[in-house]
Amino acid sequence: MTSPDELSKRREQEAKKIALSLAKQRGEKQASIKGGDGTVAWVTESLCIGCDQCTIVCDDEAIELYFKDVASPLMQVPSNRKAKIIRDACTGCRLCVLACPTDAIEMIDR
Ligand code: SF4
Ligand code: SF4
Repeated sequence: MTSPDELSKRREQEAKKIALSLAKQRGEKQASIKGGDGTVAWVTESLCIGCDQCTIVCDDEAIELYFKDVASPLMQVPSNRKAKIIRDACTGCRLCVLACPTDAIEMIDR
């Protein structure tokens, strides 16, 4: 029977493997996204869930959240937030694209 110690070691090893795999995938994804001075981030409003992840990773204060009314009057939520890119401040670093859980951000040519 597997002892709690062995189980804990195995879990640790598996966690390391998963972390490595995710880092690799992230690196591959980052390499596949265009970025740099000639690009700027763009948010597709309908995909944004206002989760705030992009504003946390953006070091250049190039993203702000704003409130938008919900389209359907049947739905009542206290706030419906969306992200907006401040074009002049965006350096094209792509971090927000990697952080967004809904793939709402893409890099476009300036
Ligand atoms: S690309 Fe970089 S600088 Fe531009 S909004 Fe995203 S995280 Fe901020
Ligand atoms: S990370 Fe994506 S979903 Fe979350 S607020 Fe930013 S753009 Fe919207």
